[in-house]
Amino acid sequence: MQRTVATSLEERWDWADHGACTALPDLFYNAEDESKGVRRRKEEAAKRICGRCPVVEQCRHHAMANRELYGVWGGLSENERHRLAGRQRTG
Ligand code: SF4
Repeated sequence: MQRTVATSLEERWDWADHGACTALPDLFYNAEDESKGVRRRKEEAAKRICGRCPVVEQCRHHAMANRELYGVWGGLSENERHRLAGRQRTG
């Protein structure tokens, strides 16, 4: 069986249209002036939404494969993705 490879940018991002966060992008990214407490509460809220998202696996795979640096993706925070990838945060 031959595997189909997505070739266009549109095909590669198809899953994102089905994400549970499409109407809440601000919750998934931190602003520089936010306190650690606010960041942590936003991350926890975002991860709860990821927990009921139908495309969580595709999102996580995308984030890890493309080394997305910022925000919550696929139920993982920035720090969690860095740890999984064996990287150190530099900023
Ligand atoms: S897994 Fe989380 S970040 Fe990814 S599309 Fe779903 S809700 Fe959004």
